[in-house]
Amino acid sequence: MSATVSVIIPVYNEEAGLAPLFERLYPALDALGRGYEVIFVDDGSRDRSAALLREQFERRPQCTRVVLLTRNAGQHMAILAGFAQARGDYIITLDADLQNPPEEIGKLVAAMDQGADYVGTVRARRHDVYWRKVASRLMNRIRERTTQIRITDQGCMLRGYHRSIVDAINRCVEVSTFVPALGYTFARHPVEIEVAHAGRATGQSKYSIYRLIRLNFDLMTGFSVAPLQFFTMFGILVSLFSLGFVVDLAIRRLFIGPEVQGVFTLFGLAFFFIGVLLVSVGVVGEYVGRIYEQVRQRPRYTISAVLEEGEGIDTGETGVRPAVLPAPKSHPQLDHTEMLRAEHDPGRSS
Ligand code: UDP
Ligand code: MG
Repeated sequence: MSATVSVIIPVYNEEAGLAPLFERLYPALDALGRGYEVIFVDDGSRDRSAALLREQFERRPQCTRVVLLTRNAGQHMAILAGFAQARGDYIITLDADLQNPPEEIGKLVAAMDQGADYVGTVRARRHDVYWRKVASRLMNRIRERTTQIRITDQGCMLRGYHRSIVDAINRCVEVSTFVPALGYTFARHPVEIEVAHAGRATGQSKYSIYRLIRLNFDLMTGFSVAPLQFFTMFGILVSLFSLGFVVDLAIRRLFIGPEVQGVFTLFGLAFFFIGVLLVSVGVVGEYVGRIYEQVRQRPRYTISAVLEEGEGIDTGETGVRPAVLPAPKSHPQLDHTEMLRAEHDPGRSS
């Protein structure tokens, strides 16, 4: 029997785009000719998204599951909530806004059939606003230099992960992370393929400049200490230069006498270094803040309900239970999840 597919879709205030998504997603998955499940994770939407997902669940209950988070936990946490529920052999992540065409899922599945355990994607012609493309190119380059992660296009979330990778991710308890980079660190046979990309048809991007900066700090701090090392190296260089400068000033004071030229240049330099110092304190803070969040060990997300029908994935063959993995193993985060699920669904036996 061919490998089964779980598609994880984080949804945050996407009411306008959900109907066209359903219309294209299900036919694309039916065309794969294998068992699949779609897991929508509602990331605390404040519009009608959750209600629309519920309706869709009622329309296609055999292959649809909906995880409702109590509040907005962020796209990557929502994906992790989906990973914890996924039962397929191949797990595909997809955005809800149709910027990644669902018709491309077949390409990812084909790559995984050929042995890839991680399928990255590169957007052939990216349709986003200009500043996003420039910022993204810059961040790709910085990340390429400072981490071990070899991803061409970090921003494209249409990606495929083999069950083994998702199991490894599910064992991680990171409070802030970047899912594609985390998956990549566990991959043994990563590949990249080109996929089409479209402009956002409805709604708006959920990422402001501020949220994008926060997200990129998650990526940098989560996978590298290079930013810290950069400031140490810069500090060493500045100290060496200033030492030479002080010696030079002392000699001139002795042989030439008191001088006042260059006072404003010195001010300029001093302000520059104060600026660098503030940034470096901020960078240390980015790490310390994340360590603090991590040690508090609060749940990364909380689930208010999981809508699902039977166990396992619908294979289309009646009476045949597909060979998918059982529900996730015990895990601090999952225990919490399970507890919440039991509360909302007392009839569940496990
Ligand atoms: N998303 C989410 N939680 C958030 C922000 C975004 O679940 O806090 C979802 C959103 O609904 C979409 C996907 O993540 O399905 C990508 O978001 P978006 O399209 O706004 O990002 P962009 O394409 O602009 O990078
Ligand atoms: Mg988008």
